[in-house]
Amino acid sequence: MEIDYKVIYAVKCPKCRKKADAVMGGPGVPAGTYREPVHKLRAKLIQCNNCGLIKQLSDENWNDYELWYKTKLKGHSLWAVNEEVLDYMIEWFSQKILKPYDEFERSVVETYPKWMITNKDKTLKKLIKLKQNIT
Ligand SMILES: [Zn+2]
Repeated sequence: MEIDYKVIYAVKCPKCRKKADAVMGGPGVPAGTYREPVHKLRAKLIQCNNCGLIKQLSDENWNDYELWYKTKLKGHSLWAVNEEVLDYMIEWFSQKILKPYDEFERSVVETYPKWMITNKDKTLKKLIKLKQNIT
């Protein structure tokens, strides 16, 4: 069964390069996990509060967007689809001992790749930096 998710991603505005919203649509997997690059959600609309851009995406160019919260760590791509997810990741990687404490968390956390887990402190530092860059 296909599930239609409606999620907002933080993306770079193609016009003014500031932070804009992308309205994503299904089918896909629960958004915000590291499973997402495999089962991509499609961007349907990009809207920018800064310059007023509204861009409708079609079946051909749905992938034509750049995530706002995106950086590199040890050659890997480290990213969060929006601030809510970024906050969640910061909170999770702030734990002294990485251990999910409920079922929901387990489903999200298991999708973090090994290089993030084994570089926990560096990952956290990068995530905090991403968060600071927006203000
Ligand atoms: Zn813009």
